[in-house]
Amino acid sequence: METRGKILMERYELGRLLGKGTFGKVHYARNLESNQSVAIKMMDKQQALKVGLSEQIRREIRTMRLVAHKNIVQLHEVMATRNKIYFVMEYVKGGELFEKVEKRGKLTEGVAHKYFQQLISAVDYCHSRGVYHRDLKLENLLLDENENLKVSDFGLSALSESKRQDGLLHTTCGTPAYVAPEVISKIGYDGAKSDIWSCGVILFVLVAGYLPFRGPNLMEMYRKIQHGEFRCPSWFSRKLQKLLYKIMDPNPNTRISIQKIKESTWFRKGPEENRILKERDLNE
Ligand code: ATP
Repeated sequence: METRGKILMERYELGRLLGKGTFGKVHYARNLESNQSVAIKMMDKQQALKVGLSEQIRREIRTMRLVAHKNIVQLHEVMATRNKIYFVMEYVKGGELFEKVEKRGKLTEGVAHKYFQQLISAVDYCHSRGVYHRDLKLENLLLDENENLKVSDFGLSALSESKRQDGLLHTTCGTPAYVAPEVISKIGYDGAKSDIWSCGVILFVLVAGYLPFRGPNLMEMYRKIQHGEFRCPSWFSRKLQKLLYKIMDPNPNTRISIQKIKESTWFRKGPEENRILKERDLNE
């Protein structure tokens, strides 16, 4: 059925397809009253019920409405018809950070530093409100028109939880490469600690251009994750390497906290090259 041009709930006019995820499509749309651009994630109700998204997701959506941060994709409202659930979100113009990394091969430490600071700012904000993402990965990071990072799906962790229970993460989503070791071992885990781990994997990918934990098969990848077995490429600065080993510590009890990440030299000052550039700017 042609979706484009369709009017939803007498409130939104649907536009082009922005992308497809595990739970359905995301379309551009326009609020007919305010003319505001939005993105609408459409989910099949049957599928939602199948993966048990009832009370939990309602609770999380309520929390989500209280979350407003410049680096988080804002959830405006949730609507439902007999067959579908619609998540109406802030429209983010600049595409996925994933695409940018793919195009460039990898980012400089300076550019990655900016995105990492914005990511940590968003994660810290949510954690302090008891909201966890549980599915942080490069594909969930969007860029706005000013090249600022926006984390999507924050607070919709019920979606990622059910994906895991369903085994969907291993099939539809392809790679569990961002998942913390304690999530793999299913020993029950702290949402904050596992989000921190995923932030480390993201930071590594930005600067390396490839994932830290890879293997010929899933078993091997899991083994490496569980042992925290990864190696930083030679172009990583020593300070960045030090920080990454503290973030991707397989023991969640000794893994660095968000507060300590924020206090680390690399986080506060960025890579050496940034500092030199800034000093040069000041002198000119
Ligand atoms: P999964 O659901 O499997 O985790 P995903 O996060 O990529 O995958 P969705 O969140 O459904 O899937 O999004 C699909 C695509 O739609 C995204 O990759 C992105 O390109 C686009 N998209 C999602 N949200 C927005 C938004 N708020 N603004 C603009 N584009 C968006």
